[in-house]
Amino acid sequence: MATDIIYLNGEFMPLEEARIPVLDRGFIFGDGVYEVIPVYSRHPFRLPEHLQRLQHSLDGIRLANPLSDPEWTRLTHDIVARNPGDDQSIYFQITRGVAKRAHEFPQNVKPTVFMMSSPLVTPPPEQVENGIACITATDFRWLKCDVKSVSLLGNCLLKQAAVDAGVIEVVMFRDGYLTEASASNVCVVRNGVLLAPPKNHLILPGITYDVVLELASVDKIPLEVREVSEQEVRAAQEIWITSSTREVLAVTALDGRAVGDGRPGAMFRRVHALYQDFKQTVMRRAA
Ligand code: PMP
Repeated sequence: MATDIIYLNGEFMPLEEARIPVLDRGFIFGDGVYEVIPVYSRHPFRLPEHLQRLQHSLDGIRLANPLSDPEWTRLTHDIVARNPGDDQSIYFQITRGVAKRAHEFPQNVKPTVFMMSSPLVTPPPEQVENGIACITATDFRWLKCDVKSVSLLGNCLLKQAAVDAGVIEVVMFRDGYLTEASASNVCVVRNGVLLAPPKNHLILPGITYDVVLELASVDKIPLEVREVSEQEVRAAQEIWITSSTREVLAVTALDGRAVGDGRPGAMFRRVHALYQDFKQTVMRRAA
């Protein structure tokens, strides 16, 4: 098997050789942010949008961006070229760096910059065909969910609750309204209308969420971006999750009850097909 090559603070090296000091604030406080970019046929998908979201996350934790967008772009292409597989998932992480343990920000410390590549695993065909089961939970995470923070303990606990229940994801509500899932955005179809929660501090502004909403609007699917109540979710004909790795999937069972007729709905099948076409078109144009 080929060795994974990672990037750490200015150098490329095999994954096994990479070391981080234990006083890195990412390790001590979870003080950092990250991004995950899907790469199809060696072309990063929506890289400018991911870099824009990275900047938003850095601004959200008051950390200066250590690299310019052209530098991030060059490094992304570099790491893709150095790793095997045409379809990859590129992970970036920036932490506030290494300093004596104290909550307040250290002065004059260089951020830690890390990038790695993993094989991109897209959903198996049976999940696309049959949909997935989810449970629901109260969203107990912090109030800056728009920041893609490496402090993911809330998301990990919620995801594990789903795994313990033998399902794929957990659909969350805060104060009676839909937020998102532990590692994906959620939207629903009610009476022929696609309903998506607004991008605010309660959810991650998903790149796939944007793609799906753009495709729906071009296809003249009635769309409302607004708060979606728990009752509306539970009475929805369709529920979808979206993320860079899961793309768009139908939730066909929620808390053990069938969603709609228990099969992926007509609108899901339409948007899923549009998403696959769109991916192909973008990649052909990039090639
Ligand atoms: N919400 C959360 C909490 C996530 O972790 C993710 C996956 N990064 C998403 C939504 C979906 O974002 P994207 O479409 O950019 O992958």
